[in-house]
Amino acid sequence: MSTFQAPKGTYDLIPPNSATYLAVREAIAAPLKNSGYGYIETPGFENVELFARGVGESTDIVTKEMYAFETKGGDRLALRPEGTASVLRAALEANLHKAGNLPVKLWYSGSYYRYERPQKGRYRHFSQVGAEAIGAEDPALDAELIILAHQAYRSLGLSDFRILLNSLGDKECRPVYRAALQDFLRGLELDEDTRRRIDINPLRVLDDKREAVQERLIGAPMLRDYLCEACKAYHEQVRELLTAAGVAFEDDAKLVRGLDYYTRTTFEFVHDGLGSQSAVGGGGRYDGLSEMIGGPALPSVGWALGVDRTVLALEAEGITLDIPSATAVYAVPLGEEARRVLFRSVTELRRAGVATDFAYGGKGLKNAMKSANRSGARLALVAGERDLAEGVVQLKDLASGEQTPIALDAVVDEVRRALG
Ligand code: ATP
Ligand code: MG
Repeated sequence: MSTFQAPKGTYDLIPPNSATYLAVREAIAAPLKNSGYGYIETPGFENVELFARGVGESTDIVTKEMYAFETKGGDRLALRPEGTASVLRAALEANLHKAGNLPVKLWYSGSYYRYERPQKGRYRHFSQVGAEAIGAEDPALDAELIILAHQAYRSLGLSDFRILLNSLGDKECRPVYRAALQDFLRGLELDEDTRRRIDINPLRVLDDKREAVQERLIGAPMLRDYLCEACKAYHEQVRELLTAAGVAFEDDAKLVRGLDYYTRTTFEFVHDGLGSQSAVGGGGRYDGLSEMIGGPALPSVGWALGVDRTVLALEAEGITLDIPSATAVYAVPLGEEARRVLFRSVTELRRAGVATDFAYGGKGLKNAMKSANRSGARLALVAGERDLAEGVVQLKDLASGEQTPIALDAVVDEVRRALG
């Protein structure tokens, strides 16, 4: 232990468990790569104003959770709390939307930062894989994203999750609903904080997790009764496309989600084995965001899936991913001469694409064989002076213990044959 520890609310990814995180990221990305999404990477920090405008001044993320700071040069920046605003900013800056090929479909993977109260499944540094489809209004696009997230979770073997679906309406019908909801809420007995919300973000009151608040909300006007014809038809198409794809979902009229910029389709993936941090991912349509950050009108839809919580979901379902051992061959030299010669074979094997490791540090045979077994390798290459004099090395199958001499100048071919 050193003098230092990982900061509060963070943790390190360490072998062997870190391999699961990599595999989860890959599993989430695979369906996207397979569906026309291109990889995008943006900086870990942005102008704080981008998030204030793009995520919403009234959101918890902006008011409480953002790591904002001023640089020595006087720039006001923030560590990114989420991906959508940055990705849209980058797409606009690069004029991707003008290349005449809409929607622009992008996926990303990275670290996000929120100053939250740390608990299981809620960290100050966490990891997301996300996707955004920018510049098209088409229910099939909303459905595509939900289907791809569903496919990703299923490919990991997860089954104990549900998809919650709602429509938040658009700039025609939502203001009417918002006013009706405000009227209703103002008639309720609510605490100071919640009353403030009525003015700035009344829909978020519906999302309040407290039972006492939920009880008072009985009889509140519901957005689905206020949707305009266009929003209703759009939502119905999304639902039909999901059903046709065999993707089950639950209509959740109270699903609002934390970000201000959502319009129409909104959804969340919840896992039932995770307790209170049950959202493993979420997303929706954000037709107004581009204009909010100074761009042209670009209706868009996207999601972000939490890698940390997906790993917890795997644990909750007792799923261990089948991760092949990183090392196939482990080389054990006995003596100085063997070290030089075998190290050359190791380099040859690696250049030939065979995952190979080497017993460093002049270990004795017993210790070196222990390391070989621990590495998960299937084969060991062992050589001492007598082997070298005969121009051979011993190829040992670590499972059966069977050992055969192979010609030193044919190591790559022989190893490849043995690995099958
Ligand atoms: P919650 O309601 O749990 O706070 P959220 O609505 O803030 O979630 P989003 O902004 O939609 O979450 O982020 C998408 C996903 O990222 C979440 O579903 C979750 O899996 C993950 N996530 C968000 N915040 C955290 C966090 N602090 N620690 C770990 N994962 C997180
Ligand atoms: Mg949150």
